[in-house]
Amino acid sequence: MHGFTLEEATSRQWEEFQTTLRGSVSPANWQKWLGKLQPELGATQLTLIAPNEFHRTWVEEKHGKQIESIFHQVFGSEMTFSLVSLSPYLPGSEEEADPPSLEPNVSPSHPSVAEVEPRYETNPSPLFGRYRFENFIQGESNQFALAAAQAVADQPGVSYNPLFIFGGAGLGKTHLLHAVGHHVHEFYPNLLVRYVTSEKFLNDFIDCIRRKRVDDFKHRYRSTDVLLLDDVQFFERKEQILEEFFHTFNTLHQLGKQLVITSDRHPRNFTVEDRLRSRFEWGLVTDIQPPLLETRLAILRRGAEFAPKRVPQEVLEYIASTVSDNIRELEGALTRVTAFAALTHREIDLPMAEKVLGDHGKKNGAPLQALDIISAAADSYGFSVAEVQGPSRRQPLVMCRQVGMYLCRELTDLSLPKIGEVFGGRDHTTVIHSLDKVKRVIRSDRAVFDRVHSLLQQLRKRGG
Ligand code: ADP
Ligand code: MG
Repeated sequence: MHGFTLEEATSRQWEEFQTTLRGSVSPANWQKWLGKLQPELGATQLTLIAPNEFHRTWVEEKHGKQIESIFHQVFGSEMTFSLVSLSPYLPGSEEEADPPSLEPNVSPSHPSVAEVEPRYETNPSPLFGRYRFENFIQGESNQFALAAAQAVADQPGVSYNPLFIFGGAGLGKTHLLHAVGHHVHEFYPNLLVRYVTSEKFLNDFIDCIRRKRVDDFKHRYRSTDVLLLDDVQFFERKEQILEEFFHTFNTLHQLGKQLVITSDRHPRNFTVEDRLRSRFEWGLVTDIQPPLLETRLAILRRGAEFAPKRVPQEVLEYIASTVSDNIRELEGALTRVTAFAALTHREIDLPMAEKVLGDHGKKNGAPLQALDIISAAADSYGFSVAEVQGPSRRQPLVMCRQVGMYLCRELTDLSLPKIGEVFGGRDHTTVIHSLDKVKRVIRSDRAVFDRVHSLLQQLRKRGG
């Protein structure tokens, strides 16, 4: 049995931090620079360690602000973060680094153009760096959608117009839309590509109405060469925006501009007017299905290439077998395991993965926290949580506290000092003493044994 630990709470944040950061830079950049930063986590501080000073300076110069903003967004303002390097820059110590003609502590020259994320300054669409065709793993479940998206990206406005892709959450619809966007950018730099979620499209519209600038809106969307509209199910039953979109659609289509639209369902299952529904079906409607096992494994294998630690095959197989119908969750499970390993400085193996994902997979029952345990122990003895955490050393309060610590040891991964901390800032030697005491007592005192046993059962059930 495994409880919810502080490490894991933070490892979830770390996962989110890493995913967001990785999503905002190019794969090359991630692989060479940002993905190489190692985390070191303290109670109030995250330290990112670069392999050397050159690396550190580069990251700070290019991405310092970005990292900081994502960091605060994810970890909140209580945590601080710092970027340090393991060793000073030594010429030749980093074979891949740009001209090794630098002195230590001198700002590095700019990296070659290829590894800098394209900026698209002249272009309005924020495209996710990672969502490219190269990073999209093909399988039976998505091959038609992928082929159609590639055809459209090769020759916008020529083959299928609109291309309508539908499928469940986390199956790669947004990824494909962005991939079309990247591809068109690269091969047709003069075309104006606009990726927009349906929600943003609607908000833009409302905003322009409010400011009496509806013409701006019309101009903005109708001047687009490739419109990538995500999650169009959002428009359902919103008459005014449907009307507006209908006109946008017609204008673009008449001009031979490409539309790619995604949705969580087939147009025939849409509650919209027939005239719009039929337009959705004018071009090609194609679906994405949940990936089969082999595809899930391939996706994980690709993801594992970027992991800071080696992920054994059996662990990949285990993850692929636990998470089946959502690729976002599949990736999340992998990141959770690798983040846990990085934060606890351990190698990844099957028992660890099972433990980390065991809790993750539990849909019912909140994860067990130290406080749940303290309050169960307190209840059982008729004390309050505050008394258990308080200074008094009278019996049977002390016994109650000791039992609580024992339960925490059994049910969570909290370290001895952490257990001491949650029990009112007690020393870890006190915790060790308490654990010994309870172990001894339950061997000799039947009543205590029964109580501990029933608390364990009760808490295990609650932990899911
Ligand atoms: P949707 O828009 O359908 O909800 P996303 O496009 O956001 O799903 O995909 C969820 C996650 O899964 C993204 O991180 C995406 O990169 C990843 N993903 C989806 N399909 C694939 C695939 N075939 N190969 C690699 N990664 C994929
Ligand atoms: Mg999406």
